[in-house]
Amino acid sequence: MAELTLEGVSVSYGDAVALSDVHLDVADGEFFTLVGPSGCGKTTTLRSIAGFETPDTGELRFGGREMTGVPPEERDVGVVFQNYALFPHMSVAENIGYGLRFHPVDDPEARVAELLSLVDLDGFGDRDPTELSGGQQQRVSLARALAPEPDVLLLDEPMSALDARLREELRREVRRIQTDLGITTVYVTHDQEEALAVSDRVAVMHDGRVEQVGTPREVYHEPASRFVASFVGENNLFDGERVDGGVRVDGTTFTVDGLDAAGRDTGGHATLCVRPEHLRRDAAENRFALTVEQSEFLGEATRVHCDWDGRTVVWRTDRRVPERGAAVTLGFAPEHGRLL
Ligand code: ATP
Repeated sequence: MAELTLEGVSVSYGDAVALSDVHLDVADGEFFTLVGPSGCGKTTTLRSIAGFETPDTGELRFGGREMTGVPPEERDVGVVFQNYALFPHMSVAENIGYGLRFHPVDDPEARVAELLSLVDLDGFGDRDPTELSGGQQQRVSLARALAPEPDVLLLDEPMSALDARLREELRREVRRIQTDLGITTVYVTHDQEEALAVSDRVAVMHDGRVEQVGTPREVYHEPASRFVASFVGENNLFDGERVDGGVRVDGTTFTVDGLDAAGRDTGGHATLCVRPEHLRRDAAENRFALTVEQSEFLGEATRVHCDWDGRTVVWRTDRRVPERGAAVTLGFAPEHGRLL
């Protein structure tokens, strides 16, 4: 079993707190992603799992086995970094074979051929890494990490040096390989769209802490905090006062469903979240008047920045958009409003 547990893990560099009391449970065979802005502690978490970093406090277990003090080469983890880190003086096959140095197998050549096939690089074994594209080099890094059949695969921003199209292609490939092998995987990215697209579950990190853990749908539709609501996808956030059935933002009252979960007393402060795609001109409820300020044509939709009494509101629509300066009335269904 290769489930992974972090319990109260903290890491500081001098006065700087990189990780603060991080708790995570990654299930056996799960594709688990750490996502958050630069400096939130993703890499430090990954380095702690790999054994390159020793936490100041907390426990880290693989399949119930305490890992404190176990050196990286004895942890059965494969790591792929952002910068391919291939050896330029070795062929592709030798690079992959290097992954077997601590884990000898009976027939290393057959194992390397098997891995080349797994990452769709049959016939590339004799090439120099410098003769490969960025995406191909990253496939070689992945094959090298997988060569010793690790229990856990750790991927630190493996796509960030690639262009958008190649990134999408490679992430599908990584997900396919991960699913085929059933290997427990922790993936690091700052790209929330990528995190939602590939993961079984994600942990949204901020300032060295885990803000929310959930499936992509949960963190998107049920953000647990203001930070998650604004980091994962786009959201309009309005601060107001909790009233019966909803929230009052200045003079406008909005009704929202599912208020029990918000656990706020009437009269208290509440933040209303509404996704840009849930704002509609033909909505029957929660209507408010805005002014169109700027439109960005995105192909499948248009993102429209509007002004609502000094607040910027983002609206997304696949219909015709009124001109700049035009008045527009938008609304949303109570089921699409969420209170934080
Ligand atoms: P990025 O996406 O930019 O790689 P990250 O989320 O991976 O960021 P970490 O690299 O884990 O973040 O860094 C977390 C915090 O710890 C940051 O504030 C960073 O400046 C700090 N930090 C990381 N490594 C060191 C170090 N060796 N010495 C001092 N501070 C460090």
